[in-house]
Amino acid sequence: EMEGLFPQKTTGFARVAVDRGLDRYPDGLTYALDDELADLTIGEEVMVPLGRGNTPTPGYVVELSRETDTSGPVKHVLARTKTPALPADLIELARWIASYYLAPLGPTISSMLPAPVRRRTGSVTHRMIDLASDPPDQLRAPTKKQRAVLEVFDSLPAEQRPIDRRTLVQMAGLQTASPIDRLVQNGLLVETRQTAIEAAWGRTGRPTTEQPTPTEAQQRVIDDIASELTTGFSTHLIRGVTGAGKTEVYLRLIEQVVNANRIALVLVPEISLTPQTGARLTGRFPDHWVALLHSGLTAAQRHQQWSQVANDEVDIVLGARSAVLSPLRRDRLGVIVVDEEHDHSYKQDSMPRYHGRDVAIRLGQMAECPVVLGSATPSLESWANATEKNTYRLHDLPERAPGLTLPRVRIVDMARDRHQQGGESWSALGPTLEQALGETLDAGGQALLLLNRRGFASYLACRNRACDWMLTCDDCDVSMVMHRQHDLPRGGFVRCHHCLSEQRVPRSCPACGQGITAKGQGTQRIEEVLSRRFPSLVSNETLRRIDSDTMRTAEDLHGVLEAFGDGKVRVLLGTQMIAKGLDYPGVRLVGVLDADTSIHLPDFRASERTFQLVAQVCGRCGRGRAPGRAIIQTYNPEMPAIQCAASGEFHKFARAELEDRRACGLPPISRMARIVVQDQNLDRCEAQAQAIKDQLEASS
Ligand code: ADP
Ligand code: ZN
Ligand code: ZN
Repeated sequence: EMEGLFPQKTTGFARVAVDRGLDRYPDGLTYALDDELADLTIGEEVMVPLGRGNTPTPGYVVELSRETDTSGPVKHVLARTKTPALPADLIELARWIASYYLAPLGPTISSMLPAPVRRRTGSVTHRMIDLASDPPDQLRAPTKKQRAVLEVFDSLPAEQRPIDRRTLVQMAGLQTASPIDRLVQNGLLVETRQTAIEAAWGRTGRPTTEQPTPTEAQQRVIDDIASELTTGFSTHLIRGVTGAGKTEVYLRLIEQVVNANRIALVLVPEISLTPQTGARLTGRFPDHWVALLHSGLTAAQRHQQWSQVANDEVDIVLGARSAVLSPLRRDRLGVIVVDEEHDHSYKQDSMPRYHGRDVAIRLGQMAECPVVLGSATPSLESWANATEKNTYRLHDLPERAPGLTLPRVRIVDMARDRHQQGGESWSALGPTLEQALGETLDAGGQALLLLNRRGFASYLACRNRACDWMLTCDDCDVSMVMHRQHDLPRGGFVRCHHCLSEQRVPRSCPACGQGITAKGQGTQRIEEVLSRRFPSLVSNETLRRIDSDTMRTAEDLHGVLEAFGDGKVRVLLGTQMIAKGLDYPGVRLVGVLDADTSIHLPDFRASERTFQLVAQVCGRCGRGRAPGRAIIQTYNPEMPAIQCAASGEFHKFARAELEDRRACGLPPISRMARIVVQDQNLDRCEAQAQAIKDQLEASS
């Protein structure tokens, strides 16, 4: 037994990061390699014996060496697996991520391999046939059918060889492949296998070919950044108002990069929500290969796109957060673009909890190429880097692109609006916004209505003012959200948006027995209100709601967005999904139904988020010839985040917010880490937390 584990003959050693949740060996464990594994490379997956029981466990090779520094006996790698190997460059990036974000290395590497790649979804093996290069001398005369096969090769251009066995059957006019197989047996033909991934493509955005001439401001930014395309690593922040034409700047830079035969990596937030970006890239670079990597693809498509990147077949890689971990050739990387760099979807909320933007910057450093961040509402982290720490270069696009106008923005005080309308009958669609919507529809315009709260009502409470009962989730202690479903008793059900558990709507208050009322309005309720006030929207099917309850797949969403682009849909009502990157010229009105949804979050970025959401959604109108208007409903009309978002004063907001952060010692002035302690037992949990606190205080 010992012999099997510790054979004498070894050709070298491998450090292996095992794919286990906890990482007791942050640099991996050292294993010896037998002869047949002499050609093992960094990034390959192997099986290794782990622990006292020597449980076979998968892991990744992160280092190779001739010698080992351990003196004791070393276990041996059992075997390599069939999982595709990752490039050594990516392993280096994984090591940085694991140490920077305190994540175990094995699972970090594992998370870089999308499941469809691991499973090889969609792989099809083709049997390919070619003429043998040295056919045997002694030959039996070929049969008639065999001659037909050989004749196909006489007229086949060289670049079409080898040829698919099935195609050859057809071209030779055969019923079966047995004459071909016989020729292979006789040594006249040779058969090889080629694996391809076959993926059927669904709907993508329509390619756009329009190529505007850059304005002076755009050209200046293009030239500034282009002058650093070949000088190594640098970080740039383009702060441009919404509609300033940042994308045009990216496209011009990408053009220079791909023309120099290098790769451009473009990250966008939740690309499945913004098919337009993909369409603009593919439209502008019809002769270059664009790989798309995002969650809206089928498994086979993801496998295919990833493999094309790994095989160095692409010039542009476009994707969401995880595209920064794609297996591209680092030495060919020429520029990294991070569009809407402030977007929260760049932060992964499960292990490894990396931030796509920050990993992109690290990757730019490793690849020695520029990183270009862009946003109308930069994160305060990036803003401080560009204006105070001067580690980023700041580029300004203060005006909208030619032909675009800034919307007229009006802040509506909901408390006053509500008072004027008279208490109970009030809905979250206030009178000012309702009137503006009517006018917009009469004038043939389109409208976007944002309410960042899905469901029908955000909570159910007791009707009795003296009673403070409210329906909360038994497990999560948050209010349960009511969802409308007319065939259920009391017209719906309640769901916890935390743990997704569901319940019936109770008949009466369990505390005092009185009736129950639904409070706080979600998108579903507003849809009902809109249908009542504007019946023509319903009869013409021109109102659509977009939230994670109605949009299950990227296809659903693309369908609605396409209908909106065509003008078939007139009013889009939705959660923050609609605040992102939509660019439709017909939008005349943007309504923010409740700008306060994130103000009270227990998050030091609450007002930054509010600013970003309001400013971004206001930027969705005025993209056509006619000016647009935006109406923002709030209970906090004096709040700087809302005022500055309405007036488009990013600088003013950033200055005030940075002052606040400085006063409180919050990021980006300081750094912050969260330590979560979990235990079944409260006392033990508290003691553990206290111990960590003491230890931190002692060491600081
Ligand atoms: P941003 O990304 O800054 O919000 P976009 O790049 O999407 O802005 O540009 C907004 C619109 O203006 C797009 O339809 C784009 O085609 C157009 N545009 C950009 N630059 C110019 C230009 N120099 N001349 C005319 N139109 C432009
Ligand atoms: Zn719950
Ligand atoms: Zn009650």
